[in-house]
Amino acid sequence: DNHILEVNNLHVSFKTRNGEVPAVRGVNFSLKKGETLAIVGESGSGKSVTAKSIMQLLPKQNTVIPEGEILYEGKDLLKFSKKEIQNVRGSDISMVFQDPMTSLNPTMKIGKQIMEGLSRHMKLTKKQARERAKEMLELVGIPNAEARLDAYPHQFSGGMRQRVVIAIALACNPRVLIADEPTTALDVTIQAQILRLMRGLQEKMDTAIILITHDLGVVANMADRVAVMYAGEVVEQGTLDEIFYRPQHPYTLGLLRSMPNLDAPRTEPLIPIPGSPPDPATLGTGCPFAARCPYTMKVCHDYHPDYTAVSGTQAVRCWLQDERTPEDHVPEVIRQ
Ligand code: SF4
Ligand code: MG
Repeated sequence: DNHILEVNNLHVSFKTRNGEVPAVRGVNFSLKKGETLAIVGESGSGKSVTAKSIMQLLPKQNTVIPEGEILYEGKDLLKFSKKEIQNVRGSDISMVFQDPMTSLNPTMKIGKQIMEGLSRHMKLTKKQARERAKEMLELVGIPNAEARLDAYPHQFSGGMRQRVVIAIALACNPRVLIADEPTTALDVTIQAQILRLMRGLQEKMDTAIILITHDLGVVANMADRVAVMYAGEVVEQGTLDEIFYRPQHPYTLGLLRSMPNLDAPRTEPLIPIPGSPPDPATLGTGCPFAARCPYTMKVCHDYHPDYTAVSGTQAVRCWLQDERTPEDHVPEVIRQ
């Protein structure tokens, strides 16, 4: 078994004035050594909550995780103590967020910020840590690295700051990097540079990446496999090719048809998905996509669809896959 991370039946809810509201509902996925899994979906679909629960970064006082496990090398991170999870954070699993300033300390020289993690996790001398910090800045393409160790975050451009964050995240050679919209705040040219950098470093260091994004163009550039989230569930997952060329869930189809920024030249017009995601506080028992789906049947409103495996690598939660569904109701794109 070469999975380093396995998320099984994860449920996460938030305590609110109106009771517990589910944000993640039975999520399953796994991550192999060195691969990139993209988690895609609209905002509010539970992507970031899933990522943050892996690192125990959700506020303890209003988060409930009633069910599920997050296995890192076979051990359940949800059962780790605060101290144990701090040891994992940064050394085994690192995270990069959309806004580099959320992970940087504006009042501390960036060399010191890289060295902090190194001395915590790797027991290097100060001199060794500084040398390693310099190497990391070089590795992420920051010119004049030696001198830049003594610069403060505000002395870098947005793109350079995200490079610094990536240097910090990768300094201790983590096995898993979780990148939550890492390039969303950057302009397109810088975005492409950062993605190229992440791919290059991944190859060099054999890091597995969980890439959270709403941008299918980024997915096309980066991912080996894709999990599509909707209303707190993974509604479909598969290889990049399966998701892009043989999507089986009507929501995945809708996403692909509504995204303008794919590399492939498109022949069909853009079709936005009508309606908006359901209110998680009032979700019924049926398929969460039923109100927006063009193929909704009676069963969809009443019963929740289970996963159907459509290949060794692709699985989908949709009643269209059920053998009792009349064949003439299944659209041709899905039937093929
Ligand atoms: Fe549409 Fe029904 Fe499939 Fe849900 S289960 S995506 S409503 S066809
Ligand atoms: Mg998010």
